Amino acid sequence: RAKLEGRNRFVVYSETVRDEHESGRAIEAELREGIRHGEFELLYQPIYNPRSGTATMAEALLRWNHPERGPISPEVFIPLAERTGLITILGAWVLDEAIRTALTWPRSVGVNVNVSARQFDRGHDLVGLVAALLRFHRFEPQRLTIEITESSLIDDAEHVIARLVALRTLGVRIALDDFGKGYSSLSYLARLPIDTIKIDQAFTHELGSTRKADYLMSAIARLAHDLKLRLIVEGVETQEQLEAIRKHAAHGIQGFVFARPMTAAELLPMIGHRVATGRAKSARSGGGS
Ligand code: C2E
Ligand code: MG
Ligand code: MG
Ligand code: MG
Repeated sequence: RAKLEGRNRFVVYSETVRDEHESGRAIEAELREGIRHGEFELLYQPIYNPRSGTATMAEALLRWNHPERGPISPEVFIPLAERTGLITILGAWVLDEAIRTALTWPRSVGVNVNVSARQFDRGHDLVGLVAALLRFHRFEPQRLTIEITESSLIDDAEHVIARLVALRTLGVRIALDDFGKGYSSLSYLARLPIDTIKIDQAFTHELGSTRKADYLMSAIARLAHDLKLRLIVEGVETQEQLEAIRKHAAHGIQGFVFARPMTAAELLPMIGHRVATGRAKSARSGGGS
């Protein structure tokens, strides 16, 4: 109550702040309703093995199909769900739904699920939840990759690292998402119990256009190799970027150049289809000469 009054006292200074506050509260209520009424949906974006040209995993990406506002981006509602704590409920739904969907795929295809910092909070037993879901669905743990970002480590890195170790003990894989976006990445790489790094798309977009981006990519690829980490390059949009990545031996390539995020129903018939990852292209031009 006191906290609420404090906030109300603050907002008299600015109508704009007050409006934002009101609409924030309205959206929180709508978020609850949305979860209750099944307005959330997972889309899936395939991640391709550059050598085979087939999808070896797909990333689950959350969407909110709001009945009046239309589709809302996760960039908008995830921060709100984190602030209100609703992310733990939503995140549990995401894990369950992603595993259910992956059960319809061949066993060679895994699923990647994004997990927020707040899902590591003490009092929310993420490891217990994941263990229960794996057991319930009889889902092979190695087929599940949890994607985290550096922001998960800000508050209590030791606690989060211990949870990551426990997840890996279950057999689940861990990927460090948006690598190259922050600035403390290198120090984390040696400390974190991770299997994979995903190069941030802002970085990917520079590839093929600046030589510096290419040098950095070489260094990261070598580092990943030496640390025995898998490398996924995300946000690949053009043939030029694809070409620039080709020599760096990435394990996975994800981006609009191959496929946009799509519904589970759209993805299913595409699994097993080959895409031209550049190797096929060079084989073709080689054959022509
Ligand atoms: P992310 O995990 O880094 O996901 C990759 C984002 O890049 C996705 O945006 C995807 O649609 C987009 N993307 C993929 N390929 C390309 C490309 O070639 N070019 C461009 N420009 N973009 C591409 P999306 O789906 O809007 O998700 C945004 C972020 O929201 C995600 O970034 C992730 O941090 C968060 N998010 C999404 N779903 C969940 C979820 O279930 N739980 C949590 N905690 N966060 C989620
Ligand atoms: Mg991700
Ligand atoms: Mg990312
Ligand atoms: Mg992100």
